[in-house]
Order: sequence, then structure tokens, then C-alpha cells
Amino acid sequence: MEPTEIDSLRQQLDNKGWRLQFPPALEEEFQRDYAQRYRTHMQLAILLGAVALLACGVIDPFWMPSVMAQLWTIRLLVVIPLLGILLLSRGSVGERHMQPLAALASCLAVTGLVGLSVTALEPFKHYYSGAITLVMLIVFVLSRMQFHWGVGCALVMMAILNIGLFGFSTTDLKIMAINNFILVASAVFALVGTFLIERSLRQNYLQSRLLAFQNTGLEESNLRLQYLTAIDGLTQIANRRSLDVTLSTEWQRALRKREPLGVVMIDVDHFKLFNDTYGHQAGDECLRGVAGALKDFARRPGDIAARYGGEEFVLVLTNANAQQAQLVAERVRDSIVELAIPHQRSSHGSVTASFGVASVIPGAEHSGPEALLLAADQALYRAKESGRNRVMVSEEAADPSAVA
Ligand code: GH3
Ligand code: MG
Ligand code: MG
Repeated sequence: MEPTEIDSLRQQLDNKGWRLQFPPALEEEFQRDYAQRYRTHMQLAILLGAVALLACGVIDPFWMPSVMAQLWTIRLLVVIPLLGILLLSRGSVGERHMQPLAALASCLAVTGLVGLSVTALEPFKHYYSGAITLVMLIVFVLSRMQFHWGVGCALVMMAILNIGLFGFSTTDLKIMAINNFILVASAVFALVGTFLIERSLRQNYLQSRLLAFQNTGLEESNLRLQYLTAIDGLTQIANRRSLDVTLSTEWQRALRKREPLGVVMIDVDHFKLFNDTYGHQAGDECLRGVAGALKDFARRPGDIAARYGGEEFVLVLTNANAQQAQLVAERVRDSIVELAIPHQRSSHGSVTASFGVASVIPGAEHSGPEALLLAADQALYRAKESGRNRVMVSEEAADPSAVA
């Protein structure tokens, strides 16, 4: 999340939202979100309108048999396109153009009502023209039409009403005035409500977006923090702390599964001399190289390559007995030799390391993984004693009853 986007959201919030309009990209997303939330409202409004128009037709054969055919023609001429709009609103068109579809449906419904009012007999015609107010309620409250579209709709509805009453019937001027007054009054109230609702919906949208972005930022810094506490800054492999956590988890797992757990302790040979000869920075570079070679050998889930401290590293190998761990240690030794980092004060001419290996099937008689590390450390000591650049396996490994 770009800080500029957060700033823009904050700025929108500060604007108090009286304009009911966001910058283009944000507006597009808001409209998509709005359509997702309220599409079913609009569909329900259209469906209810269509059902109401048809249901009222039940009285036609009893009270207005002489104009029944015309009334039902008008009803069908309105209901069929309404159902068409309903179908259209289900697809992606409804997702992108929900507001114009709702506006079209409402104007169609009003046209139908005016047509019914003009065609129906006294006194029923007044009920139909009065029902326009009901359509307005359905449109503004139920279909969640937005303010700008609502204003347009109200104007079109008024025009349709007046064209219908004035052009197609001999309506009394007083009745027309009353009809117009009722329509204008309900439109004003409905629009004020729509305006306030839309404004607060827009503010809520901005706030929820801002919150989502802030949460993402928080998650990112949490992850970063977790990373920093788990990774060694110099070599970018696991640090001592992660090693302790993983070792104790894997110890417990091995205990449950009765599987061997192997560890390899690694110490770079004559590293003090290396530093003295090539400098501390070259020493750091050398440690990064060794760590890079080492981490390729932590392959199974639960395995870990970690910097133990200074120029010492540990490799934890899950489900590995002493023999298997020894094999891996030999491969690591080879790959460090293959790095061919020059070390003129070592008898090999390049950087090497010594290895101590230990493995055990954890049991109730063991206190924890510390003894395993200690056994590997003792084996490492023997590797140093016997000439360096070699792998030694813990002597306890020879005892098959305790160690794998
Ligand atoms: P041996 O073969 O017996 O292990 O000899 P050694 O010289 O490697 O062992 P010793 O413990 O005497 O020296 C370890 C050296 O590692 C001393 C210390 O300055 C160096 N060292 C420890 N941490 C770092 C580090 O982060 N960067 C660098 N460049 N050197 C380090
Ligand atoms: Mg050391
Ligand atoms: Mg050393």
C-alpha cells in the first residue's frame, strides 16, 4: 500500500463527503463494492414491483371489466421488460451498471402506473397515480438507489406523471396539482434520506478501506519483526533462538514418533587466523559462504540450518540416525571445500570446517535436546583434535540402546 493512497483516503474522509463523488479509481471500486452489497436489494425491489403490478390486476375483471383488456396489456408491457431487467441484472451487466438498471426499472414502473391511472375508471385511477409514491419508496428505500440517480429518476417520474395526466386524460387541474404536490413532497423527503444514507455509506467505505490498509501494514511489520527475531543478521540463516525452538519441537515430535533426531555441529577451522590474515570483512563474507552451503542441506520439513554463534553452525536433521547424519555432514564438508575460499595459513590452502555428529531416538530417560548438542560438540572437539576438516560421530552413537 502506497502512503499516497492512505493520504488520499484520509483526505477524502476530511472532505466530509458532501460531494458524493470519489476520485475516478476509488469511485469505480466503491461502485463495484456497492453493487456487490446491494444488487439483491435492487432485484428484490424489481420483483416486488412486478408482483404488485400483476396482483392489482386481480380486481380488474370485477370492478373494471370494460377496460380490463387495456389494463392487462399495460401491465404486461411493463412487467415483461421489468423481468428482462431482472434477468440482465444477474450477470456482469448488473455488477457494473446496477444504478442505471434500477433507474430504468423504476421509470418503467412509473410509466406503467401512469398508463393504468389514465386508462382505469373512477375512482381507481387515483389509486394508481397515488401508487407512484409507493414506487418511489420502493426505489429509494429498498433498491438503494444512489442520490444522483435518484434525482434524475424523480425528475423523469414527475415528467411522466404530468405528460400522462395532462396529455392523455382530462384530469382536473386541482387533482394534477395535488398529485404533483404529493410526488414532489415524497421525492424531497426520499432524496434527503438517500443523500444522508449514501454519504454515511461512503464514509464507512473509506474508513473500512483505511482500516484494511492499516491492518495490512501491521501484518507486514509483524512478519518483519518475526523475521528479524528468527534470522541471523550476518548470514541470513536461522539464528540461535530459532535453533532452540526448532530443536525442542523436533525433539518432542521424534519422542512421539520414536524416530531418531540427528544434529551436526560445525566449526570453521582456523578462523581466527583467517580473520587475522584477510580482515574481519573477508571473515564475514566467508561465514556467509559457509552458511549458504550449509542451508542447502536442511531439506526435510523440520530440518534447520542455524548459526550457533561466532563461526559455529548447527544442522538439525529430522528422522536421521548417526550414519545418515554422518553422510550429510560429509557432503557439507565437501561443499565447503568446494567453495575454495583461499586460506593461506591453513594446511589445506582453503577454508575448511570440522564436524561433530550425534543422533538419538528421544526417550523418557533423556532430559532434552541439550545432551544431544553436547554429544555433537564433544565429537566436534575430537574432529579438531585429530587434524580438522573431518567428521566425527559421537561415541555414544556406538551404544545402540541409547542412540540411533
Ligand atoms: P579452530 O580451528 O580451533 O576452530 O580455530 P579458530 O581460530 O576457528 O577458533 P577460535 O575460537 O580461536 O576463533 C574463532 C574466531 O572467529 C574468533 C573471532 O574473532 C571470529 N569470529 C567470531 N564471530 C565472527 C564474525 O561474526 N565475523 C568474523 N569475521 N569473525 C568472527
Ligand atoms: Mg569456535
Ligand atoms: Mg573455529
